[in-house]
Amino acid sequence: MKAIQVHRAGGPEVLELTDLPKPHPGPGQVLVKVEAVGLNFADILYVAGEYLVRTRYPTIPGMEFAGVIEALGEGVEGLHPGQRVAALGGSGAFAEYALVPARSVLPVPAQMSAAEAAAFPVSYFTAYFALATQARARPGEWVLLQAAAGALGTASIQVAKVLGLRVIALASSEEKLALCQGLGAEVALLNTQGVVDAVKNATEGKGVDILMEVVGGEGFAQSLKMLAYRGRLLVIGSASRQMAQMYPVSLMKGNQSVIGVWLTPFLSDPAEMQAATAFLMPLVASGQIRPVVGQRFKLEEAAEAFRFVLSRKNTGKVILEP
Ligand code: NDP
Repeated sequence: MKAIQVHRAGGPEVLELTDLPKPHPGPGQVLVKVEAVGLNFADILYVAGEYLVRTRYPTIPGMEFAGVIEALGEGVEGLHPGQRVAALGGSGAFAEYALVPARSVLPVPAQMSAAEAAAFPVSYFTAYFALATQARARPGEWVLLQAAAGALGTASIQVAKVLGLRVIALASSEEKLALCQGLGAEVALLNTQGVVDAVKNATEGKGVDILMEVVGGEGFAQSLKMLAYRGRLLVIGSASRQMAQMYPVSLMKGNQSVIGVWLTPFLSDPAEMQAATAFLMPLVASGQIRPVVGQRFKLEEAAEAFRFVLSRKNTGKVILEP
């Protein structure tokens, strides 16, 4: 089977197209014929050896995908060959076939395309855990989303709207802002100078109740300035790949919180996963939330897809197709 393999830490240049034997499912595993892979910023960090888990080379990247079940390993129940599924795993999806634990598989509703299904798990579960679980969002609160036209950003706008939040979207181009407004962002701002004042104006001087921080670095200090009294700043990513500085004492005056959010530990918490699935899946089935599929690349163009995301050109989720 075709696969993209990585032998050493690096950027797009270390992604190598290779031919590997088709894997066999072990006990508790499912073999899926991959139809679409969701490209996440975390894949770029994983290949670079900069992710929150250690990358062991050689490796096949890819943590979310959709396809059709080809074979079941011993002891797998409730799934069948031919079934359309989406899956969320650690790695291995940049390939024609991928193995995943049966518990990491989600059924795909008939009306959802493979690309939409591949764009769903990481971004929507993260958006839910960030806003509902970690920030304990309440209807009517203001949320500010950075990189709002990206994969996590567009998912977060949709989840925020369902939770009754008022959304301020930040992004780097007018085209991206238009996409965010189309999804329901009430305020959309270029992430250039003057953002702090613009956010204060939009919120009658109060600032935002929740801020999803995904860029980090120098902008972190600016994010803190936009937080309302009792505001919660969610640390979700660091696309700038730079360290941020903060003075914890500065949080005291406004009774503010800085909260970490990482999807991975939630995946092995059955109660939290059940709550998130019960929230998200009916919304998918009813069409109330719908993943924004961005640009599509062939699997062998994975390096080009990485460069595309790194140059901040993507909207929604970039998809790789074997
Ligand atoms: P996106 O589709 O959002 O693409 C990344 C976006 O980040 C770009 O389009 C760009 O938007 C913005 N950006 C800002 N600075 C940079 C930079 N220096 N280089 C590249 N992009 C930059 O990607 P994802 O949805 O996959 O991820 C978004 C963020 O959320 C990442 O930081 C990721 O690590 C994090 N994340 C965290 C999860 C968790 O569990 N904690 C789960 C999922 C994502 P613009 O040009 O509009 O600013």
